[in-house]
Amino acid sequence: MTNEYLLNIYENVKQKDKNEPEFLQAVYEVLNSIEPYVNEHPELESAGVIERFVEPERLITFRVPWVDDNGKVHVNRGYRVQFNSAIGPYKGGIRLHPSVNPSIMKFLGFEQTLKNSLTGLPMGGGKGGCDFDPRGKSDLEIMRFCQSFMTELFRHIGADTDVPAGDIGTGAREIGYMFGQYKRLKNEWTGVLTGKGLSYGGSIGRTSATGFGLCYFTNKMLEVMKNTTLEGKKVIVSGSGNVGIYAAIKAKELGATVVALSDISGYVYKESGIDLDLAREIKEAKRGLLSEYASIDKDCTFNPNPKLMWQVKCDVVLPCATQNEIDLEDAKAFVKNGVIAVAEGANMPCTLEATNYIIENKIAFAPAKAANAGGVMVSGFEMSQNSMRLAWTFEEVDEKLKAQMESIFMEVHECAKHYDNMYNTVLGANISGFKKVAAAMLAQGVC
Ligand code: NDP
Repeated sequence: MTNEYLLNIYENVKQKDKNEPEFLQAVYEVLNSIEPYVNEHPELESAGVIERFVEPERLITFRVPWVDDNGKVHVNRGYRVQFNSAIGPYKGGIRLHPSVNPSIMKFLGFEQTLKNSLTGLPMGGGKGGCDFDPRGKSDLEIMRFCQSFMTELFRHIGADTDVPAGDIGTGAREIGYMFGQYKRLKNEWTGVLTGKGLSYGGSIGRTSATGFGLCYFTNKMLEVMKNTTLEGKKVIVSGSGNVGIYAAIKAKELGATVVALSDISGYVYKESGIDLDLAREIKEAKRGLLSEYASIDKDCTFNPNPKLMWQVKCDVVLPCATQNEIDLEDAKAFVKNGVIAVAEGANMPCTLEATNYIIENKIAFAPAKAANAGGVMVSGFEMSQNSMRLAWTFEEVDEKLKAQMESIFMEVHECAKHYDNMYNTVLGANISGFKKVAAAMLAQGVC
């Protein structure tokens, strides 16, 4: 990055937010890659667009007291970052995980702004969460926590203001409890949360949307950049949560063999392909661990270190667990093993060094904000269906998802080629997403 305007902005963010490494990492990556576009558009500097773009409109923090099954009171810290509303109401998931802090909230809200722009739907960027650990809690404890969380959050959100959704630790159960509490407090039924159950306004196809969308994007990327498809490829998937499980299922449907799958307990490897029905039953229905899978499927091997999965020989890598799970050493293993594509299902799973190494070595790379946009896209469909009081079929939703994921890939690809080269999809995604947000910010004046 050599542009003085961008360098000054980054220095300023670094000083103000020095204790926020994830946020700084995301800001650096974006500013660095939008540089050619900013150089062409001096009006962005005169209108102070980038200074405003890197500063969230609002960061709300609040106390979340709740009572466990033994009557003991606990207090967690809740967050909602309303990052950018230039192109629509804030939209982004709620993460429940002990690691949640302002840095992670801001990095996710910032990335979400660009991701939502890429979907082509009118949605701004937001994110929320709490440093609460849902693991090992009873249903009643989860319900009491969700009700308390919403008792504060409800005053900051609304169907035309801010529409939260699921993320790590927040699935259909948590969304249900939060929605129930919102409805009770507001005495109104609106599509204020997405990821709802099908019996109360949820969109069919939302649960699988991020994972399926990731594979549609990857297939198109392989077709255009490598003249092949997922058919016949060996795939490894990290994380067997909402994104990972459905990415694995769709990769298999498209003809690939998922040879390895991980969770926090380790990874399972099976040359002939993981039994995904079994993995899904253990992870989704029983909320169990893959170590249990290994005790049932005798043909697989189990390694208790999930990180070592990156050494497994394969063609396509789908990281779907968490941020910074792939570092430079892992990226070197991909090159050594002849990997042809890495597609990010999780948000920012590759460090900056890993991403650069992957791109430099001409592995087709699908950056998260484009490749995992399928979830928020179908959330956008859910908002439309709620407003229209309609319910589309799975086929309608899946067809729209596939078409739109392919179209996002083509937009990113053309932009990468225009400003640099086809492997620089990070630049392609960042500039494509940023252009629309910047145009809206310019049109709306200083606000
Ligand atoms: P879930 O909580 O459903 O799943 C996360 C999975 O990752 C779990 O299986 C967890 O293991 C596993 N995991 C966590 N840390 C590690 C690790 N270090 N190594 C291996 N596995 C690990 O979350 P989601 O699937 O919803 O989200 C995953 C990622 O995708 C996040 O970055 C999220 O922001 C992003 N994302 C999610 C979307 C969605 O629609 N849900 C949309 C767009 C992005 P265990 O099961 O043992 O806890």
